[in-house]
Amino acid sequence: MSTTTPNLRILISGGGIAGNAVALQLLRAGVSTTVVERSPAPRPGGQAVDLRGPSREIAERMGLMAGIRKYQLHEEGMALVNRKGDTLYRMPADMFDGKGPVAEIEISRGDLNQVLLTEIANVGGELDYRYGEWVSALTQDDSGVEVTFASGVTERFDLVVGADGVHSATRRLAFGPEEEFTTYLGGYMSFFTLPTPAGVEPNWMTTHAIPNASVGIRPDADPSTCKAIITLRTEVNPALRRDVAAQQRLIRAMLADAGWLAPTVLAAMPDSTDFYFDELDRVDMPSLSAGRVTLLGDAGFCGSPMTGMGTAMAIVGAYILAGEIAATPGDLAGALARYEAAVTPFLDSAKELPGGGLSMMLPKSEFGLRAAQTVGKLMTTRLFRPVVMKMVSKTDDYEVPSY
Ligand SMILES: Cc1cc2nc3c(=O)[nH]c(=O)nc-3n(C[C@H](O)[C@H](O)[C@H](O)COP(=O)(O)OP(=O)(O)OC[C@H]3O[C@@H](n4cnc5c(N)ncnc54)[C@H](O)[C@@H]3O)c2cc1C
Repeated sequence: MSTTTPNLRILISGGGIAGNAVALQLLRAGVSTTVVERSPAPRPGGQAVDLRGPSREIAERMGLMAGIRKYQLHEEGMALVNRKGDTLYRMPADMFDGKGPVAEIEISRGDLNQVLLTEIANVGGELDYRYGEWVSALTQDDSGVEVTFASGVTERFDLVVGADGVHSATRRLAFGPEEEFTTYLGGYMSFFTLPTPAGVEPNWMTTHAIPNASVGIRPDADPSTCKAIITLRTEVNPALRRDVAAQQRLIRAMLADAGWLAPTVLAAMPDSTDFYFDELDRVDMPSLSAGRVTLLGDAGFCGSPMTGMGTAMAIVGAYILAGEIAATPGDLAGALARYEAAVTPFLDSAKELPGGGLSMMLPKSEFGLRAAQTVGKLMTTRLFRPVVMKMVSKTDDYEVPSY
């Protein structure tokens, strides 16, 4: 990338993985970059995210691997247990060459975000990073975008990148209401940190399912804490948005009789400082850009955390978007068209849900659950391993352009 890109001013809405990854690459290309993050500080939280196939390659090209190695989790695999904690079956990471449900490179989402923020601080450049700020209005003309922020300030930018997550405000302002672009996938997921309960097998992701719900524990970089992963299959309830007390009530109700370590996890939930809860939504855009506003990460393409590909899509998309802008800073329309054309084939396969989605993962009855567990166990046999390998390697053939 060139080291100077005079006069281009780009606003990024959202300081998650997508926003920070594109900010890093734009700064490296000499672009004046403003990031607004609605939270008052970097948002902690999230359990392990996978870096596999193309996203791992991009993390290497972006020089992130040294930072990632510091926080890398050493998960040995995934175990399914019953309500007494007895193991039903195991999927060791090496059973699928590090490409199965537990990937070779796993890092907690919050730690990965910290790696990006450290790199951004190291680059320096023309960066204006504002926490506790967000876009409240935007209007665009042929030569730029006029942005009004929540603080009341109005500024002009050449391009706005909406990287503000699955409920993106940028998308709503520039493209239309959320319902036009999102599909509810039938449930909710929650992640939070808790002190590691006694009896948890170190370095293993352990999951227990009951009809319509599951609770799991994943290791943290610090062994004294771990991450809870809760999945609920239920009707959508818009009243749950932003109502943490109601979200936790729903979790407690659906896991009340789950057994295993559920009571310990539920007891720790109210004290966690990084409680995350959201709908499982898919996002499909007819086009990623509308004039001088473009979408990146969950804001523009999301298959939900069930795909395990959200971070991969964010990193690959950020690398391509920044690369195309730096290639033709004087032709943003061309850069945005090439970004979309290059990233779309990757998104199409990355957004697919593995093995039938929530209805297969969390059947409604005990009978369905036992059938799903029998299928899961079969997948660990020599005969069926190739089927799993095919599912988890679906994006490996994608060739990321070089910049
Ligand atoms: C706290 C948290 C925990 C998560 N945990 C997991 C997990 O464990 N597993 C998993 O697969 N996926 C998880 N995800 C989703 C995952 O991070 C994304 O799928 C993927 O990394 C792509 O990220 P993104 O940057 O596009 O979106 P996000 O990670 O959602 O980041 C969007 C950012 O934009 C900010 N924001 C929102 N609205 C505005 C606004 N109006 N103006 C400015 N900023 C705004 C948010 O605070 C957030 O920092 C989590 C997301 C969050 C926010």
